[in-house]
Amino acid sequence: MRSVVRALRPAVRRSQTVSAPRLQRRARPGFSALQCARPFSTTQTCRDASLADVAPTPITHFSEVETAMAETVQKFANDVILPKVRDMDEAEQMDPAIVEQLFEQGLMGVEIPEEYGGAGMNFTAAIVGIEELARVDPSVSVMVDVHNTLVNTAVLKWGSEALKKKYLPRLATNTVGSFCLSEPVSGSDAFALATKATETESGFKISGGKMWITNSMEAEFFIVFANLDPSKGYRGITAFIMEKGMKGLSIAKKEKKLGIKASSTCVLNFDDVEVPKENLLGERGQGYKYAISLLNEGRIGIGAQMTGLALGAWENAVKYVWNDRKQFGKLVGEFQGMQHQIAQSYTEIAAARALVYNAARKKEAGEEFVMDAAMAKLYASQVAGRVSSLAVEWMGGMGFVREGLAEKFFRDSKIGAIYEGTSNIQLNTIAKILQKEYTV
Ligand SMILES: Cc1cc2nc3c(=O)[nH]c(=O)nc-3n(C[C@H](O)[C@H](O)[C@H](O)COP(=O)(O)OP(=O)(O)OC[C@H]3O[C@@H](n4cnc5c(N)ncnc54)[C@H](O)[C@@H]3O)c2cc1C
Repeated sequence: MRSVVRALRPAVRRSQTVSAPRLQRRARPGFSALQCARPFSTTQTCRDASLADVAPTPITHFSEVETAMAETVQKFANDVILPKVRDMDEAEQMDPAIVEQLFEQGLMGVEIPEEYGGAGMNFTAAIVGIEELARVDPSVSVMVDVHNTLVNTAVLKWGSEALKKKYLPRLATNTVGSFCLSEPVSGSDAFALATKATETESGFKISGGKMWITNSMEAEFFIVFANLDPSKGYRGITAFIMEKGMKGLSIAKKEKKLGIKASSTCVLNFDDVEVPKENLLGERGQGYKYAISLLNEGRIGIGAQMTGLALGAWENAVKYVWNDRKQFGKLVGEFQGMQHQIAQSYTEIAAARALVYNAARKKEAGEEFVMDAAMAKLYASQVAGRVSSLAVEWMGGMGFVREGLAEKFFRDSKIGAIYEGTSNIQLNTIAKILQKEYTV
């Protein structure tokens, strides 16, 4: 199969030459050139004065690159991943051939510039890919999501040139990455982490452990947050790069889970792992800022994953009720009681999608997007839960058995309300921002 990157390269080049100046203008820090207003809408509306002659377009309109990404990933997911989804879920393991093909397709280096071996595409293109993968398998989708939005982004944003040269080509072509923040004592309260780093002559020694780390079974590259100066509290948190094979780094346990079973989730132990000084990522004590910033972006990815999941569950069920299953002499999807639920669900998926793409566009434009990302993740995971649950009911007994994918989508949906900040944490973020704005 032709790789996504090769197929899209000409379009990427065109988009870079055509739209770069416009994006640069919009990405200026601050909003001085933007006229911002808050009419009766849920998100701040900004119009760049220099774009006055450009007609606003619907949020879900895609660029040429994004459209091609959607089409190519859709085909790849249906032809290559779909036949393996049930077996991977039962085996609770990702097929290594799928991981290899994700790299071959260029889906593990979407935003990594071409000079480092990546596809050189934009953030929204990655979001489109994550959504399309989740429509078929949310487990494969989260592997791509974590690798691109958390791991690659961290190196791109804060890696030294030497680190970029060393690791980005590998992350784009053959090395899976993990993002290691959560610990037994620190989940929602992420910065209460207990893993410690001490400075040595040659670098750092890290001791402690992490919990629930996605991709860690397949990963050879780990971004690890540890406290280098606990006397400073969370301001001591620092980011480091570890590699598989470093002495003292081990996987203590692979979790058995309710859903996304093919995605590995493990406990990691750090027993005085010696990290060379050049593997310090960014600046000492800035780790908490990096983690917040990455998770804000990452939440848009989880919103996309949940939107794709909801659509996959919806499509799987409507194909059955509108084509196969007859009761009382007609297709069960023809009963009005069913049709109203189906229409309501599709509307909710469209609303979730709009939130996800609005957040992605705002991030790309250099605008404030934290509340948008939180709303997108919160709402998309609620929609995924509701729709995938209804989809099981629409299919009756066929939805409940493990022959098809309905019950799997339902199980997979639950994680959306938990990782990269629980739903309560998203609500806290939204409320905090609103309260600040509306407090006089
Ligand atoms: C499958 C899976 C994959 C994961 N992948 C990763 C990964 O790759 N890297 C990583 O670092 N972590 C990962 N995690 C960890 C994940 O981010 C945490 O599980 C999540 O942040 C919640 O933390 P917790 O489980 O400790 O729940 P807790 O923080 O103990 O929360 C329990 C309940 O209390 C509520 N709560 C907590 N604080 C508040 C508050 N202030 N206000 C209101 N309600 C509150 C929560 O909403 C939740 O309902 C993963 C988890 C899972 C299950």
